Amino acid sequence: MQRLKGIGVSPGVVSGRAVILIQRAQVLRYQITSARLGRELARLEEARTRSRQQLRDIRGRVARRRGPEMASLFDAQLLMLDDPMLVPRAAEIVRQQRVNADWAVQQIFEEFGAVFDEVADPYLRERKGDVADLVGRLTMNLRKGVSTPRDLLRELDEASVLIADELTPSLAAQVDWTKVRGFATDAGSRTYHTAILARSLEVPAVVGLHDASRRITPGQLVVIDGAASEVILEPTDEVLGRVARYADDHQPSIAADHQRRPATTADGVRIKLDANIEFPDDLAAARYAGAEGIGLYRSEFLLTSVGGDVANEDQQYQIYRGMLEGMAPGAVTVRTFDVDEDQLASQSAEPLGGGWAADQERGSRQGLRGLRLSLTRPELFQVQLRALLRAARHGQLRIMFPFVSGVEQLREARRMVAEAAADLARRGEIVPRVPVGVMIEIPAAAYTADLLAREVDFFTIGTNDLIQYCLAVDRADERVSRLYEPLHPAILRIIVMVRRAAARQRIPVSLCGEMASDPALLTLLVGLGLTEFSMTPGAIAVAKQVLAELRSDEMRAVARRILRLPTVDEIERELLAALGRPSLASAWGPRGESEP
Ligand code: PEP
Ligand code: MG
Repeated sequence: MQRLKGIGVSPGVVSGRAVILIQRAQVLRYQITSARLGRELARLEEARTRSRQQLRDIRGRVARRRGPEMASLFDAQLLMLDDPMLVPRAAEIVRQQRVNADWAVQQIFEEFGAVFDEVADPYLRERKGDVADLVGRLTMNLRKGVSTPRDLLRELDEASVLIADELTPSLAAQVDWTKVRGFATDAGSRTYHTAILARSLEVPAVVGLHDASRRITPGQLVVIDGAASEVILEPTDEVLGRVARYADDHQPSIAADHQRRPATTADGVRIKLDANIEFPDDLAAARYAGAEGIGLYRSEFLLTSVGGDVANEDQQYQIYRGMLEGMAPGAVTVRTFDVDEDQLASQSAEPLGGGWAADQERGSRQGLRGLRLSLTRPELFQVQLRALLRAARHGQLRIMFPFVSGVEQLREARRMVAEAAADLARRGEIVPRVPVGVMIEIPAAAYTADLLAREVDFFTIGTNDLIQYCLAVDRADERVSRLYEPLHPAILRIIVMVRRAAARQRIPVSLCGEMASDPALLTLLVGLGLTEFSMTPGAIAVAKQVLAELRSDEMRAVARRILRLPTVDEIERELLAALGRPSLASAWGPRGESEP
């Protein structure tokens, strides 16, 4: 048994198998079971195959444009890709240490890096860049199937504790806190943003441990004792007995009082906080986090999780019904499939975690996608609409159309809804009236919001797409991602315009882009007059806390000043000054206290 002393920031004592998360390296390290070993090794091999293909493509393109000499630069990387010291060695680490492939590849890079650093020859030393490039490519391709830390964290066992070098708000927002019992971090102090989160979620946490993420191995049994400010490695039976007694006395308070309490600003303005979810299973996390309802269910994830049988109306009906009953009396907003043709075609070929589900790829497409695609596949769309309308009897359903660029599409879609309802009526089914809304995520929809508002029951602003299409910045293209800027004056003006259009028609408007999960941006959105948001479940607790400290009248004054400012920099400075924060990137802590 070994004790690591830190700063307890949230009381309680829990035990669990450690999941290690190293943010600095952007690589998650976690334990894999024997049953998953084969899959993990296959994942590594697939990443190598993909990387090889990409490098050959790049080499071919460079050869055509710049000649064979330049192209030969990529030969070195192609050779390295087949070097026994790289992928086969990573596979060995996966097998021996039972760790995930991403982590094994990162280990190899560190080993290689150390060797290159010792080489005197500057030319050879620079080859480290090639290795880094190649490792980066392998890592990127490894993530293709799993996409985000969120998906990785989704695979955790019930009894896990998270050990991280640092837990940023965006990552904390991705954790399913119904599965992670507690956490410990190397960084941090009592004012650490994540400490606030831990207290509001009531998960035991110890921060400021300096090197816990290095000393603890994945899968190791650890105890986190928030009250005693310590993390215990390989606890004795006596310690585990104490943990068990504590657990008996403190049954998890699913939707504890403060979590159930609706969000309100310090000056008494009610703010509705809903959850964005991708899988029906996420409902538990949404409820636990205190979401009032589901503001965005990305139903296209069904395409990859119900065994590919999207044509099965009953199967869909059962899923929607389960969600509506599970969330009652809260409403569930189901967004109809938001995929494009390729993604739809690939759903049966690549069932779970197919490449298209990766965040980087989703949403960067602007062809036959979302509602446009549904309208060209009436058979598929009708199945979804009938399943939804049948389920509507079992709770508060709202149907939302994605990627709408004009009133024509909306009318056509509404006609299809009426048709589905008529079909069901002929079958003798009772169909209640279901509110129908659109996502405002294409600039054309935003600029015609006044026209759309007359023909829908609600709006949901999707800033993830709206920002990229408005600023002409592909959110997946790293070269321009710096320009992907939620605080751009154009974005703020568009949000105000849409809010006003909705207000004139007296329809509700919510905002469901990632922007809402960022506490500082959330305060500005409240200042811009929005009162409904939908966000990743993990972000809700912090949002409630932040809103409780905020005076909406003050934020409205700040927003008025900000709307007159010409640049992102000036807007950011004004916002930070108003909030008394050093930087947007810095974590959210209590007002006036400095961050670690
Ligand atoms: C959006 O575009 O803001 C949105 C919430 O949808 P998605 O990220 O699924 O495209
Ligand atoms: Mg979108």
